[in-house]
Amino acid sequence: RAKELGGRRVEVFAAHMHADVVRRLELAADLQRALLENQFAIEYQPVVDLATSRVTAVEALVRWCRAGEFVPPEQFLGPAEDTGLIVPLSEWILRESCREVAAWRASAWEIGLSLNLSARQIMAPRFVETVESALGESGLPPSALTLEVIEEMLVEDAEETIVRLSELRALGVRLAIDDFGTGYASLAFLRQLPVDMIKIDPSFVSGLGRDETLTLLTRTIVRLGHDLGLIVVAEGIERPEQLELLREMGCTRGQGFLVARPMAARGVDSLMRTSLSSLGSPA
Ligand code: C2E
Ligand code: MG
Ligand code: MG
Ligand code: MG
Repeated sequence: RAKELGGRRVEVFAAHMHADVVRRLELAADLQRALLENQFAIEYQPVVDLATSRVTAVEALVRWCRAGEFVPPEQFLGPAEDTGLIVPLSEWILRESCREVAAWRASAWEIGLSLNLSARQIMAPRFVETVESALGESGLPPSALTLEVIEEMLVEDAEETIVRLSELRALGVRLAIDDFGTGYASLAFLRQLPVDMIKIDPSFVSGLGRDETLTLLTRTIVRLGHDLGLIVVAEGIERPEQLELLREMGCTRGQGFLVARPMAARGVDSLMRTSLSSLGSPA
């Protein structure tokens, strides 16, 4: 009987696996088509200087509308990475966002661009040359571009990744560690990395003012970042209280729904002419 049950379980499991494989193949095929048919778009989320409330940069975030339905990046970036489609997709995002931000800068708005890198993208042949050519074509100065990596990328394939990131930095491009505090990079390791910026993960920021430990940890990360001479960005600011505490801690920059949601390029156009009044004046 047990054997029978076990057998049935295997069958049920196999059926699940089969459905899963089919779904993944469909997704891969749809991604390929999406790339050919330009179904991807880029939204930009403003990053502000907390001391002045001025927009210092925008972070490019990829968007996919699959048959009229929004698919969150977390659902398709993994499959895009597995199939290698992430490489051409990332190159399109890189070129397109450099071009758009260069155009905003041409109207005398001194903003920078932040881009998320994927592990496979960094390892792709001619990655550094591709970044160099995107900068050259758009006219975006290298110092206006910040490339964001997560700690895992610096731990796995660490040597090769660090070589490439150092080459980028030699071009004048800035580097940031995204989702800081959630990965495995040790503090000693951090000192050896060629980074300019850390972005504090929302899991810390969310607890500001509500959770003593998370508040203390955020304060510690801000201080650590400053001691290492890094720009510190807080991510996921949703409540005024978080903004106040971050300002009081001396955190350099902030990003989050309270500041501004990710928006299409057109939204950034009009933002250029207005200020983020919801922020109030800094303390
Ligand atoms: P990330 O780089 O940490 O980006 C921040 C994410 O938090 C974005 O989600 C943004 O919409 C969201 N967010 C911003 N402010 C708030 C807030 O106040 N509250 C909450 N709850 N969320 C907030 P999104 O666009 O869904 O992107 C998720 C992740 O997907 C990104 O995390 C990044 O790791 C990855 N990603 C997005 N676009 C790209 C891309 O073009 N290339 C690569 N390689 N990865 C990307
Ligand atoms: Mg990011
Ligand atoms: Mg993040
Ligand atoms: Mg993230």
